[in-house]
Amino acid sequence: MKKLFCFVALLLSLTLSAQAAVMLIYHHVASDTPRVSSVTAEELRGHLQYFKDNNFQVIGLDVLISQLRKGEPVAPDSIVITFDDSYENNFTTAHPILQEFGYPYTIFISPGSIDKGDGPLLNWQQVKQMSDDGVLVANHAMRHEHMARPEAGESQAQWRERMKQSILAAEDKIEQVTGQRHQWLAYPYGEYSSELEQLVTELGFIGIGQQSGAIGNHTVLTRIPRYPAAGQYADLKDLAQKLRTLAFNITDYHGVNPVISANPPQLKLSLKVEDFNRNQLQCFAGSEVLQPQWLDDNTFSVSAGKALNRGRSRYNCTAPSLSKKGYFYWYSQPWLN
Ligand SMILES: [Zn+2]
Repeated sequence: MKKLFCFVALLLSLTLSAQAAVMLIYHHVASDTPRVSSVTAEELRGHLQYFKDNNFQVIGLDVLISQLRKGEPVAPDSIVITFDDSYENNFTTAHPILQEFGYPYTIFISPGSIDKGDGPLLNWQQVKQMSDDGVLVANHAMRHEHMARPEAGESQAQWRERMKQSILAAEDKIEQVTGQRHQWLAYPYGEYSSELEQLVTELGFIGIGQQSGAIGNHTVLTRIPRYPAAGQYADLKDLAQKLRTLAFNITDYHGVNPVISANPPQLKLSLKVEDFNRNQLQCFAGSEVLQPQWLDDNTFSVSAGKALNRGRSRYNCTAPSLSKKGYFYWYSQPWLN
């Protein structure tokens, strides 16, 4: 009896660990905008049709955040759709297509950029219209700042105050126009630091990045990952694999800070090895294959062979799931040099 109970408990925990959501980032929906941040209307339609035909469940970010906050199991095979930077083509081109499918989605906007009318952006009337149609409107900082670190000549305290004002002013403006106040911040450029995560937590916000990876019940709520879905990532074959990813059950991040202090940085993670084989864990820095070193049964460390370039880079670690055929565990660590 006890054995049977253990077996059922193991199966249940495997099933739970093999549940994950993914969040996708789009920017432009157009054929005459920079390809790297664009999908065409046909490509967007193709993505949505694929989700529908393959029984993926598109949920609102509010539903996902509520599941994560309550510690409820994340709905399996669920997808959250997001658009950053409030381009006008989100209203003119993407919105009607998403409405046709009845899919919820979120736009992350920088109110200061909209106020200034910087480029082909949504105006406030369009934002209000989208909000009235059920679109979730959330925070992308006031002026799309690089947020992770103080500027030259700025003290830590000044930086902190400037970031706090940016986050709160953007949130207030969104609430003023739409009545929505979610307290979700998508970091501009996906750039964050441990210090910024601390501020976001103190302000009662959720932090959302641009590093890839699946979302599960152990995902840290100040660095929720998203997969890019535009440009070279718009290809359905590539995207389809990312939709079938799972979140490693990470128990200790060993204080990892994306703003690196040593180059190359070392990533050290402790995780539950329950639905993948240790020797099938693979890590990459760009196209470079890295050799993870297992320090004990549940902890590995990994470093690139050479110094990282200036700016943003990543380590990606993946392992095939044992219980869910065709699915991969996926974790991405962003770095800022
Ligand atoms: Zn942005």
